[in-house]
This record gives sequence, C-alpha cells and structure tokens, in this order.
Amino acid sequence: MTQKFTCETLPLHSTASNTKFEIDVWRYTHPDATKTVYLQGGIHGIELTGIPVVYEFIKEIEKHQLAYNFICVPLSNPMGMDSQIMGVQTGYNNIHTNQQNCYNWNRITNLKDEPNQEGSWIRTLLELADPANIILDLHTAGVETVPHIYSHVTEKKYAEGLGIPHILTWNNSSYSFADTQHQLGKIALTFELSSSRVLLKEWVEDSLKYLRRFFGILPKTKGSTIWQVERQLKKWYSPKGGVICWNIDAGDSVLDGDVIATLYTRQERVLLKSPYKGVLLLKNPSHAPHERQELAKFLVE
Ligand SMILES: [Zn+2]
Repeated sequence: MTQKFTCETLPLHSTASNTKFEIDVWRYTHPDATKTVYLQGGIHGIELTGIPVVYEFIKEIEKHQLAYNFICVPLSNPMGMDSQIMGVQTGYNNIHTNQQNCYNWNRITNLKDEPNQEGSWIRTLLELADPANIILDLHTAGVETVPHIYSHVTEKKYAEGLGIPHILTWNNSSYSFADTQHQLGKIALTFELSSSRVLLKEWVEDSLKYLRRFFGILPKTKGSTIWQVERQLKKWYSPKGGVICWNIDAGDSVLDGDVIATLYTRQERVLLKSPYKGVLLLKNPSHAPHERQELAKFLVE
C-alpha cells in the first residue's frame, strides 16, 4: 500500500476584470498515518521562500512515502502574491481592496465569519487545516534576517533540533494563523525561513533541511537558542530621520553600546549604538527611516 494523492483547485474570488484568484491544495494520504500535517507557504505576499520549499517538499513526501497525511498549500495567498509596485513585493497587508485598515494577512483569523474578501479567504484556509494535528506555516522576515521559528512555550520541543538558530517561544496568542491553530489544540509552528521579497537557492535548500529534520528524513541537530518573545524580543526605532548604513549583519551578537550603524541626517553623521546585549534578529526594509520608524528587532539577553 502506498500513498494516495489528489490535487484540488479552490476558487477564492474574481477581480474587476473577472480574473480568478484560486488556491491549489495537494493532499497525500498514507495507509499507516496517525497524524495529519498542514503545510503552507506564502500567506504574506512578500514572503517567497516558503513557496518553492513546499513545492520541493511535496516531491520528498512521495519519494520517502512519509507515513503522515499531508495537506499542502504552497501558495496560500494569491492576492498577496500579486501585490507589487514597480517590481517590489508589497503584499504584507491587503492594500489593494481594503480601503480602511490594510489588514495584515496573518492577523485576521478573527474575521473568519465575515462575508468580506479577507473573511472568506482566511475561512477557506482554516477549513483546509481543520483535519490537521500539525500546522507548519512558512514565512520570512525583514529585509535581512537570521532564520528563526515561533512556537508556543509548550511546543518548543518540536522546534528544537531542526537547525534553525533561534527559537522564539510565546505565551500570548495573536490572531495569526499558527497561534489560532495552537489554540485549537494543535502543534503549530511559524517558520521564518529567510529574508523577505527575494529568493536564493541556498535558502530553499536550508529550509528543506529543516523540514527533513522535522519529519525524521535527516537526524536532529544541536545549536538552537531559545528566547521568550514577551520578555526578550525588542524593537528598535530610529532616533532621527536620515539614511542608515549598517555595520553589522542580522544574526550578529552585539553588546550594549556597540556602534552598529551610521545615520546620515541633514545636520550630522550619527553613530548609532546598540541599545541591547543580544542578537540582531532582523533589519526592517527602509534604509531611509523617518524619526521613530522601526529599524530592527533584537533578541535581548
Ligand atoms: Zn509572514
């Protein structure tokens, strides 16, 4: 007995010109499976790495005949994916058809009963994930990041050993897809595989290794650091407006007071010092920040 495979295309809605938005669902059922996995990429339209990772991993599900049932949605948000301005992906929020509050595509599970576009879309994904016990939601972060993974504090054992350097454990749930799935009693992990908006072959290869370790195709590894989101994840804001040039890379360790960037303002050249001892988790996209615009996120010791 081997796996059974189906591919289904679900309609979402149509545009003014009657172009259809649809999502493809790839399902594998294994006769010996006791658990069902929901594997999703692309919920944020600026986050590309997870999409080829799901397409590539689908081949490994078949090759290794993994004894799980799988529900795979490589491209879960076609509206986000098709949002770009002058060649730059912009689909982190719904800026196209929602004129009032530009919903973050990954903070709207509370809208699942609404008759609007966001409600209908997120309801479709939640219903797809309904049979699953394990939710793996593939994201990316920042203009530059070190790979990390979000898990509920009680589920960090599932995030350990995958080769992802930083595990960010949380207590307080949001209306994100994975947090909502955790609240339904499932194992739910949000992978932040790489930087956003661009795509490198090595990021796809590294990300596939994380999934292989999760499913036992590769042995687990050591070396993840565990952090507590509410206490140790800190945002950093620009003290003035200007143009910023970084001295350090995402993933670098810093000490309090290290000079980590230069900000060129209209009046002067300002050496920006690290406000924390810890790790630079990610840089935000703008290199021309306004005063008080978020520059980066740190993991703080
Ligand atoms: Zn995301």
